[in-house]
Amino acid sequence: MKEKLVPLKDHRFECQMCGECCRNRWVPLTLGDVLRLGEIKPIEEFLLIWNGKKLVIDRRKWDNGCIFLEDNRCEIHGIKPLICRLYPIALSEFPILEENIPYYLKNGKKVYLYIDENCKGVGKGKKIDIEKLLKLCETVLQEIKETSIEKLMDIV
Ligand code: SF4
Ligand code: SF4
Repeated sequence: MKEKLVPLKDHRFECQMCGECCRNRWVPLTLGDVLRLGEIKPIEEFLLIWNGKKLVIDRRKWDNGCIFLEDNRCEIHGIKPLICRLYPIALSEFPILEENIPYYLKNGKKVYLYIDENCKGVGKGKKIDIEKLLKLCETVLQEIKETSIEKLMDIV
């Protein structure tokens, strides 16, 4: 599924369970994600090291879907990777479009939030809770900072 990012404003969102965001893309993992998923599945059964530097979830061959996708539902919903919890929001520490809206984390850090208009759930359901979203963004940035292949090798 190709992304169409626009700056996040007062968008609504409710997942329509189409499963499209779980196919044809590499899902990046933080070290925290790997450890959480490692509690339910052996790491070698889901983890790929992409391009020698990125931790990602393996995909199955027949539909290029994430190995945790089952009948268009995420079978690890409660512990799904942080990037999947964020989607259809995309987080960046730098502006990436012509129009960009800054948001501020509790520690004063400026971030930019975008939403993927190609997700079928955008425009449906309740307004996105920005405060909750910013808390999740803090966790995402913190875990990204703590992630490296070297640290993974020390642990596994
Ligand atoms: S987040 Fe969007 S693309 Fe992904 S399953 Fe839900 S509606 Fe479909
Ligand atoms: S972990 Fe779950 S939400 Fe994330 S891509 Fe896989 S099936 Fe989809």
